[in-house]
Amino acid sequence: MTDNPIKDTVIIGSGPAGYTAAIYAARANMNPEMYTGMQPGGQLTTTTEVENFPGYPEGIMGPEMMIEFQQQAERFGTKIHIDYITEVELAKNPGEIHKLKTGSGKEIQTRTVIISTGATAKYLGLEDEEKYLGSGVSACATCDGFFYKNSPVVVVGGGDTAAEEATYLSNICSKVYLLVRKDEMRASKVMQERVLNNPKIEVMFNHELIGMSGNMVVEKAHIINNLTNEKSELSVDGVFIAIGHKPNTEIFKGMLDMDETGYLITKGKTTKTNLPGVFAAGDVQDSIYRQAVTAAGTGCMAAMDAEKYVLEHFH
Ligand code: NDP
Repeated sequence: MTDNPIKDTVIIGSGPAGYTAAIYAARANMNPEMYTGMQPGGQLTTTTEVENFPGYPEGIMGPEMMIEFQQQAERFGTKIHIDYITEVELAKNPGEIHKLKTGSGKEIQTRTVIISTGATAKYLGLEDEEKYLGSGVSACATCDGFFYKNSPVVVVGGGDTAAEEATYLSNICSKVYLLVRKDEMRASKVMQERVLNNPKIEVMFNHELIGMSGNMVVEKAHIINNLTNEKSELSVDGVFIAIGHKPNTEIFKGMLDMDETGYLITKGKTTKTNLPGVFAAGDVQDSIYRQAVTAAGTGCMAAMDAEKYVLEHFH
């Protein structure tokens, strides 16, 4: 049990969805408490310049933008804890209290929970990926494609994300190599056809990325043909890893409805999960759009849904 008073809302995760939920919840007098997770600021802290978030005509660096989100949330009284949630005991009936446990051993009771734990882009696990992250390596074509205008790039992956990113980049870049590790793509037929019929995209089946090189930034992608073991190089400025995302939903397994990949399922045009008083916002419930601005939009929705729930069941 805990000595802490019961909170109106606890927000788990500190990306654009979490901070926007915090701003709205704080302004609705819900005294939100945020648990930032292991990577305060979320995925945007690993990007360089963000040029597609409205309101920043000159663009803004991802980490800087997240500090501004944080400052805005704090200005209205959000209490931010640099800590993470390790365990949850979510109530099943309306009006019941949810219990959460933190990494530092604290127990929290709350009327509502807003889950904005995001998703993590999968990487191949190459040392060079870390070395060149933000200097040629990216996991988001919509975010970073523009930096490679009229330059050659490589996309790794054979699913819908890779097909979509390759197609998107073909409108910006001079040439797109698509490395598919098997002799076929997993992407839907229509996406495959789009890629295979695009004269700017060269699909290289049975090829894998094994490293990158370049002075400070990527200049070459090192690849291998996994049938012949023949190694070669591609002169490129950008490498896009598009092998999927993993939503951060481990601690909710068995309690909340998820799709087969682990994305939380929300009801209709709301942020409601299958449990009362538990709401989901941002990439943790979105495998399609995954943008900072869409995450922020659903964060706002979650705070409004949570406020309504508290008014309905606790007043
Ligand atoms: P997927 O899991 O569908 O595909 C991942 C791809 O990456 C596969 O081709 C896989 O290869 C490849 N891959 C995985 N690991 C490696 C590795 N270590 N080295 C090389 N290649 C690797 O992920 P997506 O992100 O593409 O899609 C996720 C979900 O989102 C899917 O359900 C998809 O349909 C959906 N989606 C829908 C879109 C749309 O409708 N517009 C757009 C984007 C995604 P292999 O096949 O060999 O395992």
